[in-house]
Amino acid sequence: MTSGETVTITGPVVFFTGAGASVGAGLPTYRGTGGMYEDTTLEPPHARDVTLKGLPALWARFGPRLRRAEAVTPAAAHQSIAALEHDHGLDVTVVTQNVDGLHTAAGSTSVLELHGSLQRVRCMESNHTSALVDVTWRNDGVPLCPTCGDVCRPDVVLFGESLPAGTWDGAAAAIRDAATIVGVGTSAQVYPAVLLIVDHRTEHARRIWINPETPPPTDGWQWIMATADEALARLRGPSTRSTTDE
Ligand SMILES: [Zn+2]
Repeated sequence: MTSGETVTITGPVVFFTGAGASVGAGLPTYRGTGGMYEDTTLEPPHARDVTLKGLPALWARFGPRLRRAEAVTPAAAHQSIAALEHDHGLDVTVVTQNVDGLHTAAGSTSVLELHGSLQRVRCMESNHTSALVDVTWRNDGVPLCPTCGDVCRPDVVLFGESLPAGTWDGAAAAIRDAATIVGVGTSAQVYPAVLLIVDHRTEHARRIWINPETPPPTDGWQWIMATADEALARLRGPSTRSTTDE
């Protein structure tokens, strides 16, 4: 389609986002579970690394990435999606493979994080989830639960772990009810997340694929060959208010 052309979409709309949505925020794209690994030359963190003894080493793996995530703010892509909800009156659900928390930071209110979030921790004993900003840190770099004082793991899905069932079901329901489904910056190679956008789950909806390089997974998607920042800025809701009305 023509570069720069405005694209009007109707709701409910689901944005299915991958690492490419966060490129504009300065985060690198990696394949793998949400692109969360600092050093891709090492084996990705695995479920078997989540032991009381293994926690300091596990947090050391996430530490550099956490410090970088603190320094990044939402990209234009995240802000455009939030604006479609708040300024364009669209019913928006974000289903994301990313663990950077940037959709929520941009103001999107319905965000389903398939792989969890590096902005949250979960205590080992009682599974209390807490915001990273609320924890205290032990000397060995392991955070402590603000509710019970237990040691915490990252609230992200590691290799060998299942996706959270409630989040998966919520994502499947939102996709089933969607009038428009927009795939953003995903390689469509991350299993099982990509199973949410296979044909039989999405072919009832208008399907738009935003990616500068990777083609849509199947026929039936309208491909906007542009970055997430560029392409999402061109989407409009059917009843978009002029910004001068604010
Ligand atoms: Zn706890």
